[in-house]
Amino acid sequence: MSTAISSVAQTSGQPASLICPACGTSSALASRAWRFVNARGETEWLRCPACDSYFMDGEYSLESEISHTQQMTWGDTEHGEQLNNFKQRMYNSILKTITQHVQPVGKSLLDVGCSYGGFMEAARAEGFDVYGFDIVPQAVQRVTKSGMRAQCCGQVCDFTLRTEPFDVISVLDANIYWPNQPEELAEIYRRLKPGGLLVMRIVDKSWMARIGAALQRVSAERGQKLLRRAVNDHRFSMPVGSFLSVLRKTGFNVVSASPRGAVHSDQTSLPVKLSFAVGIALWQTLGVFMAPGAVVVAERPLN
Ligand SMILES: [Zn+2]
Repeated sequence: MSTAISSVAQTSGQPASLICPACGTSSALASRAWRFVNARGETEWLRCPACDSYFMDGEYSLESEISHTQQMTWGDTEHGEQLNNFKQRMYNSILKTITQHVQPVGKSLLDVGCSYGGFMEAARAEGFDVYGFDIVPQAVQRVTKSGMRAQCCGQVCDFTLRTEPFDVISVLDANIYWPNQPEELAEIYRRLKPGGLLVMRIVDKSWMARIGAALQRVSAERGQKLLRRAVNDHRFSMPVGSFLSVLRKTGFNVVSASPRGAVHSDQTSLPVKLSFAVGIALWQTLGVFMAPGAVVVAERPLN
């Protein structure tokens, strides 16, 4: 049913999205950026003039999002569990960052978009009292089977396994699938204790998308190939700087933001590792962001 609504909206010639999912601004002023075929089929992408993000046009449907995720490697049981092992390097480095600010024993941690529970397991081993949620039922079952508390739901406001505020909330590679990022961040802020930490691994290949968008005017095939690498199956692609300003508008203090610690694995391919190495150097010397991702730590102020 939702697919039908979406296709009607798309054929009407008007953008179907009402807001930019990255910054929440009305999409009325967004311009068309490209149309291409990727893991989600053929989609139209718009560019938001308010936050410089690119985003996929079309209505959000949780059911389609669930079935899409189940078709992706991290959504099926076998590969999802393998990915837990693959991402150990990133999990450990993120935990190291968190424990610089919080002593884990007895502290509560909610992992948003917990998938098959890889990060939850690592955090539990450090002493955190862990909770998680995900949209994929099989993933939640696997986490529950490992003796951890997880719920199948799509938004922080629907998470009901614990009502008391958390010491830490983590969002690793999950915000790029949200339909309304400012709304989710505001809810996360509300569910954190004063002084509580939000830790996110974000993806920013918007610089690559910009190159792809320009290139496709010269060579459609090469441009689209680059665009597919830039956006994967994400719903939006947002520059780190714009993301940090949304965080600050929500009320968070940004403690740190760096591509350091965002590499997924020791087995990550050499070109991607190199891209991170160059990205870290550029970020530290010139403040220019050209890495594939970053780890961001933000704090809900004490008062
Ligand atoms: Zn925007």
